[in-house]
Amino acid sequence: MNSKLEGLKDFIDNLSIIDTHEHFRYKGGTAGFEKGLELFSFLASSYAGADFNRAGLKAFSPSASSAEKWKEIEKVLPYVRSTTYFRSLFDGLKELYGIKASLERSNWLEYDKVIRERSCDRDWFHTVLKKTRIEKYLEDEYWTLEIPKRGEKDIPVLRINTFVMSALGEKDHNGHNSREFAGKQGIKIKNLDDYVNWTDRRIGEFKKAGAVALKNALAYDRSLYFAETTEKDAKRIFVKGETKASPQEKTALQDFMMHRIMELSIKHSLPVQVHTGIQHGGGRPLEWTRPLNLNNLFIKYEKARFDIFHAGYPFTESLIVLAKSQTNVYFNLCWMPIISDTKTEVLLNELLDCVPSNKIFWGGDCSRAEQAYGAAKYARQSLFRALSKRIEKNSATVEEAKFIAKNILYSNAKNFYRI
Ligand SMILES: [Zn+2]
Repeated sequence: MNSKLEGLKDFIDNLSIIDTHEHFRYKGGTAGFEKGLELFSFLASSYAGADFNRAGLKAFSPSASSAEKWKEIEKVLPYVRSTTYFRSLFDGLKELYGIKASLERSNWLEYDKVIRERSCDRDWFHTVLKKTRIEKYLEDEYWTLEIPKRGEKDIPVLRINTFVMSALGEKDHNGHNSREFAGKQGIKIKNLDDYVNWTDRRIGEFKKAGAVALKNALAYDRSLYFAETTEKDAKRIFVKGETKASPQEKTALQDFMMHRIMELSIKHSLPVQVHTGIQHGGGRPLEWTRPLNLNNLFIKYEKARFDIFHAGYPFTESLIVLAKSQTNVYFNLCWMPIISDTKTEVLLNELLDCVPSNKIFWGGDCSRAEQAYGAAKYARQSLFRALSKRIEKNSATVEEAKFIAKNILYSNAKNFYRI
């Protein structure tokens, strides 16, 4: 590597990050979630765990010993070793734990021991974030409807799924029911106006608590295409109620709520983050998750700002074109560098050809800081490789490459989310 490229690599590796998307549910000793954490539960809660399952890992019996679990893992490990989920996780863990090799027969007990030890360390979560150079992160706490207690680096976003899905008192895919929750807060919802007002109030309360965005993860509940429903129809369906409304009417009422939430996002000046593309776990039509399903919202709500997640993968090209043609549509790489580092390198160059570099973000989308460490490592690596290619073919100078890298990892999120 020549010294110019070495300088670029060093620059990217040392950049501070404003991370647009995490779900740090497991914050180590500080939150008390980690009791009994060991290698296998750590793996099960990671994306790599999903690859082990897809490769055919047999479910552990509740009485299985660690040695028996390892035997099962070892059967599928050779097939999983090549995936980016696995490589990014263990490339990160090797560095964090000071273990020379990736997971194998000779060191699984060593990984197991370190994971158990770290789970008791109150500061470990913060130590890892510091090592990752994460200055701030946007946190989607999908596991609760409560207003989050904030730490030093986290900034909340409000997941809006239940407000769309629960007008008739049904639960969203996270098991939340905002209508029931409103009742617990002493809010009486007698009609659709009350329900919309409650949604407005909750968005205001989250904003007051520091939230900088709404998060639409509805692709886990239904299609991202939200048709227009008249107020008259929506009110009629609301009166019919959960048992009498047909599935089509329920969808129409959800559509109505999504459009009201778009208006509220403009009213409260909060951008909307949207999950598109690949989903964690199967069982849902991939068709639901196309970024193109959102096209009518992008056009109708010109004043709203959209941060579209996961590079839209595998519908990446349509998201590139949407971000290119719509001023209010931004492109988020979150999760992508640990889904496929090869694809990330390729798409970055295509993206930079088409979309101005102030419209691109990154986030980890991880449940543990250790995973985010690997995710950030892979994001930096993919950025370096993509930008080196541009320098080699004279489509960017080293200074321009540094500017782009800093925009993607730091400045864009700071400006867009007004952090
Ligand atoms: Zn996520």
